[in-house]
Amino acid sequence: MEETEQSYPPTHWIPASSANFTVSGRPTAYPVDFVVIHVTQETFPDAMRIFEDPQAKVSAHYMVASADGYIGQFVRERDIAWHAGNWDYNTRSIGIEHEGWIDRPDYFTEEMYRSSAALTAAVCERYGIPRTRERIIGHVEVPGSTHHDPGPYWDWDRYLRLVNAA
Ligand SMILES: [Zn+2]
Repeated sequence: MEETEQSYPPTHWIPASSANFTVSGRPTAYPVDFVVIHVTQETFPDAMRIFEDPQAKVSAHYMVASADGYIGQFVRERDIAWHAGNWDYNTRSIGIEHEGWIDRPDYFTEEMYRSSAALTAAVCERYGIPRTRERIIGHVEVPGSTHHDPGPYWDWDRYLRLVNAA
């Protein structure tokens, strides 16, 4: 898998099916205002297969692996991934999935937090997004969301500290 253009943190290009996102030209077509944090409720390989399945109608820009913080990129940032369940928020956000389950905090490793925080910091830098909880939100906080991720075990204080230190 080739490395993509952004050098830090390293990301690995694993394209989603073109049936699972909307081609766009952000940030000209739409501003990028939010980072949406998700937990997959799947293993990394299973979620990867879902993104590759043209029937799935779901994708995310990135997914971070639990054990080592490996980052896969599935959709280009200029394109609109289908992750928030809300078209307006999809158009204006970068979606980052985290391998694990909302009720299994052992999946939320130091490696995952650090790698994801470096990624979110880089995204915030690229689009001028303030590194605050108003702009770095959980899927649960998207208006109309029927999902609860990242859940009560996701350590937001720790995450925001890492994002701001990155
Ligand atoms: Zn989600």
